[in-house]
Amino acid sequence: MIAKVITDISLDREFDYLVPENLVSVIRVGSAVAVPFGRTSRSGYVLALAENSFYAPDKLKYISGLAADRPAIPENLIKLGKWISSYYCATQEHAVRTLLPAAVRSGKVREKKLKLYSVADRGEAEKYIISHAEESRLAKRVKVLQMLLRRGEGAKAEFAGDVDFSVAAFEALCKSGLIRVREKVLDTGFDDRIETLPDSPLEPTADQQQALEQISEMLSGKISSHVQLLYGTTNSGKTEVYLQAISKVLAMGKSAIVLVPEISLTPQTVRRFRARFGSKLSVLHSRLSDRERFDEWNRINSGKVQIAIGARSALFAPFANLGLIVVDEEHDSSYKQSESPRYHARDVAVVRGQLENACVVLGSATPSAESLYNAKTGKFLLCRMAAQVDNKPPPVIHVVDRRLDRAPEPGVSNLLSPILINAVEERLERGEQAILFLNRRGYARTLCCPQCGYEARCPECSVNYNYTYSRSRSVLSCHLCGGIVPAPRVCPECGFEDIRYFGSGTEKLESCVRGAFPGARVGRMDSDLMRSADDYEIILDKFRRGRLDILVGTQMIAKGLHFPGVTLVGVVNADLGLSMPDFRAQERTFQMLTQVAGRAGRGEKRGEVIFQTTRDSDVIRFAADLDFDGFSKFDLEFREMLNYPPFSRMIAIFFKGENESAVAGFAAEFAEKLSAYQHPKIRIIPPAPAPVEKIKNQYRYLMTIRGTGLKTIREAVRVLALHSHIPAGITVAVDVDPQNLM
Ligand code: ADP
Ligand code: ZN
Repeated sequence: MIAKVITDISLDREFDYLVPENLVSVIRVGSAVAVPFGRTSRSGYVLALAENSFYAPDKLKYISGLAADRPAIPENLIKLGKWISSYYCATQEHAVRTLLPAAVRSGKVREKKLKLYSVADRGEAEKYIISHAEESRLAKRVKVLQMLLRRGEGAKAEFAGDVDFSVAAFEALCKSGLIRVREKVLDTGFDDRIETLPDSPLEPTADQQQALEQISEMLSGKISSHVQLLYGTTNSGKTEVYLQAISKVLAMGKSAIVLVPEISLTPQTVRRFRARFGSKLSVLHSRLSDRERFDEWNRINSGKVQIAIGARSALFAPFANLGLIVVDEEHDSSYKQSESPRYHARDVAVVRGQLENACVVLGSATPSAESLYNAKTGKFLLCRMAAQVDNKPPPVIHVVDRRLDRAPEPGVSNLLSPILINAVEERLERGEQAILFLNRRGYARTLCCPQCGYEARCPECSVNYNYTYSRSRSVLSCHLCGGIVPAPRVCPECGFEDIRYFGSGTEKLESCVRGAFPGARVGRMDSDLMRSADDYEIILDKFRRGRLDILVGTQMIAKGLHFPGVTLVGVVNADLGLSMPDFRAQERTFQMLTQVAGRAGRGEKRGEVIFQTTRDSDVIRFAADLDFDGFSKFDLEFREMLNYPPFSRMIAIFFKGENESAVAGFAAEFAEKLSAYQHPKIRIIPPAPAPVEKIKNQYRYLMTIRGTGLKTIREAVRVLALHSHIPAGITVAVDVDPQNLM
C-alpha cells in the first residue's frame, strides 16, 4: 500500500511512501505519521491511500511510524481541506494548517494525564500484610498497603497527606507489583467562569415555528436543499431558532457547530448557549490558551461535547457525526480569512454540510447579496421572520443633510450638526446615553467638495464608485477600469477652491465632542485604542453601568451589543463608506447603518437615530426606512447591471514587492500567461496599482478576473501562483471571491 503524505514544510505536493506491513491495518486517511525526508525525519499527514505509485517501489521509502504526539485528522476534514486548497488556490499545507489549531498540529501540548494508584490484587495485599505485620523493617510498607486498601484508587498527591504514607515504601511496593498504576486522560471540563442558570426552550412564535419546521424537513432529507437562509429582523428570535434546531439535532444523536463573528462571541451570547446546553457545549474563544484549545479540540474529537460555538475557525471542529452548522450574521465580513487560505467560512460551511450530509442555517437581518441570490435561484431555502418577538417600535430615524447647515466658522470643527448637538444635549439633561459613530477606517481618502458635495468619480464606472486619490502621483485612478485622470485643483462642479480629502477619524470626533459637551463623560472605542479584548470589555462595562454618557467609536460598536440606556445614536458621516472603491460599498454601508441604528432604544424608551450625510443616497434612504427588501432589490439590480458578484464570480490577484517596476513587470507577465484563458464570459482586468498602492514599503498591484465558468482559469491561476517560478522579493496572493479589493 502507498500513502500520499503531506509534510509540514511548505510544499504544495504529496510524497509517496510505502506503508509497512505492521501499519497497514492502522493507517488511514488523516493519520499523523513520521516519515524519512532527505537525511532527516519529518511529520506529516496521510492525505490519501493508493495501491500504486507513479514511482518504482524501490525508489520509495517506508513510513517510519505513527506520530505518537499528535492526533489524526478526521477523514471528512481532509476532504474539506482538499477542497479549500483547490478552490481557494492555496497550498495543501496551508489548508491542513487551517483544519487544525496550532497547538494540536505541533503536538507540543500533550493531553494531561494523571497517574492513579491502587492495590493490584486484594488477596495478595492481605497476605502480605498478615505475613509481614510483625517485621519492623517492613512496617512502613504494610501501613501504605493498609492505607491504599482503605482509600481505594487515587493520585499520589492525594495519599501524600496521609499519616501512613511513605515515599520509599510506596515506590518499593510499586516496583514489586503490589501497587499498580493506571493512566487516565484528564477531562478539563467546561469553562465555569461564566455562571449560568439552566433554561428551557421558549414557546415558538409562528415565525419560529415555520423556520423550525423547515429545518426539520431539511434534517430528515425531505427537501433537496441542505441550506436555509434565515432572514430574520433583529429581535425576531433567530437565536431561539438556532437553540431549538440544535436540540433537534442532538436528539438525533448528531452534533452541531455555531459560527458567530468574533465580536459577537461576548459573554451575552455564550451565556444563552451555555444556559441551554451546559457541558455539552465547547466555546472556542480566540482568547483560549494553547493548552485550552488543545483540550477543547480533543473533547470534540473524542465525542465528549456535541456543540461547538466560535468564530471562523470553529467551522473545523472535528465532529464525526455533524448534523447542523449555524452561521449567525452570515453577511459579516469577518468570515473571510485574509491570509492563505483565503476562505469564506460561510461558503465552506455550505461545502462541509454537503460533504457530511449536514444541514446549514445561515442567519441574518441583512443577508449578503450572495446568499439572497442563492435563495432566489433555489439553491438555498428562504425563511423570512419579519415580526419582532417583543413588538418594540423601531427607532425614529432622521437624515440630516449637512449641505444645508451654515458653513462653519474657520477653525471650528464641523463634525456635528446643530440637530445632532441638540439631540445629545437632551440626552445629557435626561441622564440617558448616546453613541456617536464614525466609520473611519484606514484607507486612501477620497476627494470631495465640502461646498456642493461633489465627489470625484470615474466616468467609465459611474454609479457609486469613486476614485482613489493618489497624493504622490496627483491623479485620480479607478481600479475597476484602470482609468486615470489628473486630480482636479478646484471643484469641477462649482469651482470651489478648497476641495479636500474627506475623512476625519474618531479621535478628532472625540475631541470635538469633549469641546461641545464640557462635563459629559466621554469614552472612545476603536481599533487604535483597543489593544486587547480586555480594553474592549472595560469600556463597554463602564458604558453599561452608566459611568459614561457618550460613547464615540468605529464600527466596533455597531454589532449586537445591548445597552438599555442608549436612546440616541448619531452617525457622523453616514455616507463615508459609500466612497470605498469596492462594489460592496453600498451593501456594507446599509448593513452598518441598520446595525448601528439598532443600538438605539433597546431599553424601555423609544430610540432616536440621526444619520448625517453630505449627499443624496438611495442607500441612506433605504437604511433610514429600515427597508432591507427595497435596498436589496436596488443593490442586486446594480450588481446585475455591472455584472458583479453574485451575477459573476471574481478572483483577485495581488502582487507585492519593494521594487515597483519588478512588481509591475512580473504582474504583466503573469497576466500575459493567463490571457490564453480569455473567454467571452470572462473579463480579465489587467494589473494596475491597487487602491492602497503601498503598504509597509511594499508596492501592490492588483489584477482581477471576473465572469462565469472560472474553474479552468482558477486552476491555471493556482498552478501559476503556487508552482511557477516567482522572482525573489515578489509575492503573489490569490484571493478567490475577494471581500476586499483595496
Ligand atoms: P435575534 O437573534 O433574531 O435577534 P433573539 O433570539 O435574540 O432574536 O430574540 C430576541 C429576544 O426575544 C430575546 O430576549 C429572546 O429571549 C426573546 N424570545 C425569542 N423567542 C421567544 C419566544 N418564542 N417567546 C418569548 N420570547 C422570545
Ligand atoms: Zn463643488
